Amino acid sequence: MAPVIAFKTWGCKLNQAETQDLKEKLFSRFPELILGSIKKPADLYVLNSCAVTQKAEKEVRQTIHSLQRISPQALILVAGCFTSDLRQREKEKVYAWLPNQEKKEWDQFILNILSSCAVTSSRQPEQKNLKKKTRFFLGIQSGCQQYCSYCIVPYLRPDLKNKPIPEVVAEVKKRQKQGFQEVVLTGTNIGNYQDRSSGLIDLLQAILEKTDLPRLRLSSLWPTVISSKLIGLFRVSPRLCPHFHLSIQSASDRILKLMGRSYQRKDLERVVQKIISIPQVNLTADLIVGFPGETEVDFKETYEFIKNHNFLKTHIFRFSPRPGTKAFSLKGSVSSVVKKQRAQKLLALSRKQAMKIKKSYQGETLPILIEGKKQDFWQGFSHNYLRVFLKSQSDLANKIVIVKIKDLKKGFLEGEFLKIEQR
Ligand code: SF4
Repeated sequence: MAPVIAFKTWGCKLNQAETQDLKEKLFSRFPELILGSIKKPADLYVLNSCAVTQKAEKEVRQTIHSLQRISPQALILVAGCFTSDLRQREKEKVYAWLPNQEKKEWDQFILNILSSCAVTSSRQPEQKNLKKKTRFFLGIQSGCQQYCSYCIVPYLRPDLKNKPIPEVVAEVKKRQKQGFQEVVLTGTNIGNYQDRSSGLIDLLQAILEKTDLPRLRLSSLWPTVISSKLIGLFRVSPRLCPHFHLSIQSASDRILKLMGRSYQRKDLERVVQKIISIPQVNLTADLIVGFPGETEVDFKETYEFIKNHNFLKTHIFRFSPRPGTKAFSLKGSVSSVVKKQRAQKLLALSRKQAMKIKKSYQGETLPILIEGKKQDFWQGFSHNYLRVFLKSQSDLANKIVIVKIKDLKKGFLEGEFLKIEQR
């Protein structure tokens, strides 16, 4: 009986892209393999871990322990950032540890393990449902040497690797042939993408010129990499999704300096002004609250900055001291109560802003990539990252449809199906 494998991935979009890529490689080379669930017994579990916060580490540990209970005979492979902490490795008994540097051939490593599992498995085959083919996360770059004072990533992913432009273009074409309508370019710090003398803008132009992929989206960007040239390209390329996710972290110059972020609030102002010149563009952002030494005044500066600009969504992280980072030994730690209060204040503001933005789209028409159906409603994301629900008798799965935004109900946008976008 073919072995059963189950996956769990934490953390950044790059981790998600790596696991997705791994699944593709394993199931194409071992088609009879059975895709299991992390909640059920399996022969092999692959955990692609994250260690960016204590919370992420705790979840990985808890998952290892629950799998050891669910399936005592199963092999557990832990890959990714969690593996770089030797203390963790000493504590946890698993079959194999695979640091990021060894992910290059982890498909072969796992196939070797699986070939040894083949004889033992006695489980019932389950339906294999690999990811629906709407949006594909394509890892173009990995590694970071920015050494922001709070971040453990440069110690876990020190090597800078970039996928050459021709390889990315070829992969975009392959994914489009597989039915994907949207590709999200992701990495540890894609703003630093480099292929010899070419950078991120050259890569975008190559994809737009050499493929006819309907939608191309960027994952998180450092504010400082957003140049007028990049904005100019977005203004003339409707296939580039007008949605910018900015890793802002704070808008207090004092805290940004302590974080080792090479920009100030005035730079953020300038960048946001440039971005909002793109029609129908939406902004989302990452923010950290409770950084050591963050006073009420510092927090207020971040709060006011977000308040003065329309952010569709903010991901708010409470500062988590990481051993080995510069910030770990900084004085003035902020209590968890205050961190919670500040996170809740920003979240409340973010929700209010999201409602205002969604309301402003009532009566507008938007292109929506339909991801699936929930009860009677088809649902999907617009090019500018609004989730929209609509009714239609037609099969709209994985179609880009033109929708007129009718209503905002319980925070969700409801639209009227007009037509399928012709390409
Ligand atoms: S840019 Fe800073 S926060 Fe982002 S991965 Fe690199 S060190 Fe970490």
